Amino acid sequence: MFNSLSDRLAATFKNLKGKGRLSEADIDATAREIRRALLDADVAVPVVREFISHIKERALGEEVSQALNPGQQVVKIVNEELVAILGGETRRLNLAKNPPTVIMLVGLQGAGKTTLAGKLSKHLKEQGHTPMLVAADLQRPNAVKQLQVNGERAGVPVYAPHPGVSSEFEDATGDPVQVARDGVAEAKAKYNDIVIVDTAGRLGMDAELMQQAANIRAAVQPDEVLFVLDAMIGQDAVATAQAFNEGVGFTGVVLSKLDGDARGGAALSVRSVTGKPVMFASTGENLSDFEVFHPDRMASRILD
Ligand code: GDP
Repeated sequence: MFNSLSDRLAATFKNLKGKGRLSEADIDATAREIRRALLDADVAVPVVREFISHIKERALGEEVSQALNPGQQVVKIVNEELVAILGGETRRLNLAKNPPTVIMLVGLQGAGKTTLAGKLSKHLKEQGHTPMLVAADLQRPNAVKQLQVNGERAGVPVYAPHPGVSSEFEDATGDPVQVARDGVAEAKAKYNDIVIVDTAGRLGMDAELMQQAANIRAAVQPDEVLFVLDAMIGQDAVATAQAFNEGVGFTGVVLSKLDGDARGGAALSVRSVTGKPVMFASTGENLSDFEVFHPDRMASRILD
């Protein structure tokens, strides 16, 4: 991830090395190269436009610090602007005053929701919480089983449709809204302080999927709705994020498959396009391949 973008930015900055003072033409040329590098990394066009305009404005307007040469000053500005488009501060989970905190996961099928449910529950357990998983993805035949396996690996209980009627659910005739509601009630009764509700996704966007997720949201009133976004889907990421933001609404984003060789555009665009912070990153198929998302660390990685 970001390899090509990192290389391109490094090459751009190299050209500034040794320059005494940057002329307006130098800054224009640098901005053009950064613009091209971002567009080639699939960053959304409006996001690139704003980013470049900030860079130019600041590079032209700011007093050059005594401690930095002009090239370093540009790197510093780019770094700060990257942190800003990645969301600035790290956003922590919003915990309910009266437990359980309800976290609902939404996203396309294959985005990595079920995997993330396991990872997030493991992370929260390690932090001293007592999470429970709820299997409200009744669309995909294997999803309930997969969540149970992940729960077992994480050492976290899973509320699933009753085993006696599981075949009914596998035919998607069960009611995911009821399962979600019952799951939250179960967590409350068992004193689990966080409940993570896994929901169904489809291969493409469709109205029924959105409606089902919206109904679950209305029924369980989650404290957080996390939109799981596959970073590998490139330019489609922005449209997908917008559709979920309008159809269901979400409070935060999880970027999944950041271990892949995607160019990084989704990661850099999603915050600006939706106004919602990236909170976690999923970086592999194992339960431990999980990180709290820190905009400053991500920016440093890109500029390393
Ligand atoms: P869901 O349909 O949204 O629940 O998606 P799944 O959790 O079933 O994930 C779909 C596929 O992506 C599975 O094969 C996962 O092992 C894989 N996967 C999920 N997260 C990651 C990740 O961060 N990196 C990689 N490389 N694969 C992932």
